[in-house]
Amino acid sequence: VYVSSISKNNENIGVITLLQDITKSKEIDKMKTEFIATVSHEFKTPLTSIGMSVDLLSADKDINSNPMHKDLIRIIKEEKERMVYLIKDLLDLSKIETGKGQIKLENCKLKSILENSIEDLKNYCDEQEAEVILENIDENLSVYADPSKISLVIKNLISNAVKYRKENVKPKILIDIIKKSNNVIVSVKDNGRGIPQDYLEKIFEKFIQVKVSNDGKIEGTGLGLSICKGIIKAHNGEIWVESTVDKGSTFYFSLKSFN
Ligand code: ADP
Repeated sequence: VYVSSISKNNENIGVITLLQDITKSKEIDKMKTEFIATVSHEFKTPLTSIGMSVDLLSADKDINSNPMHKDLIRIIKEEKERMVYLIKDLLDLSKIETGKGQIKLENCKLKSILENSIEDLKNYCDEQEAEVILENIDENLSVYADPSKISLVIKNLISNAVKYRKENVKPKILIDIIKKSNNVIVSVKDNGRGIPQDYLEKIFEKFIQVKVSNDGKIEGTGLGLSICKGIIKAHNGEIWVESTVDKGSTFYFSLKSFN
């Protein structure tokens, strides 16, 4: 709805009201989401075959003795992995958008969700020499949430903090909470490369990635944060970020507390 007043010689002579019917655009949005879900699903079978064939080829003696063939197989393998991740993210996102990835809200302890998520990523963080610190959190603090979905959000935020590290700086990630009346705000703070001001809102949209000038290597799918946003929205919470380039970022999300 758009409303504007019209005046003539400083006198109000009327009001223009513009009402726009968004039923059609909502329908198109739904069709887009369903189309993405179907196509991504259909990609799974051929990708599995490609994966198996490439695995067989990479075990072949003749292929391994030819450096060029070996290199080509390596590229196919890496790109196949990228497609597998992309499809997994697309399917996750479309499930959230269509409401099929049902959120089952329950009264759960926040500390154990955070601890389990950190534990799930322990090997990855050790490999990357990243340190994750969980601040002292009240064991009994409960939130009304779906633990597996919230864990997905935390893991996405931690792995982003590791992925978008600052060059030659070991990632250090601090996880804390702030209690505010009926809400709990979880914060994930990193010492990474930071996010330019004009990207702070956009990065939660699908396929938005901060342009990197160095080697142009694409590090993800641009879907992780939109999945996080979808999950937090389904919990009636908010997700946002504060960041300074070259200093680091802090991602926040809010949940309803139970006590
Ligand atoms: P991707 O799969 O590309 O990681 P995301 O939706 O998770 O997609 O993130 C979108 C973009 O936001 C990333 O490509 C990256 O440029 C930026 N970004 C996300 N998290 C961080 C972070 N902790 N530090 C710096 N940049 C980040």
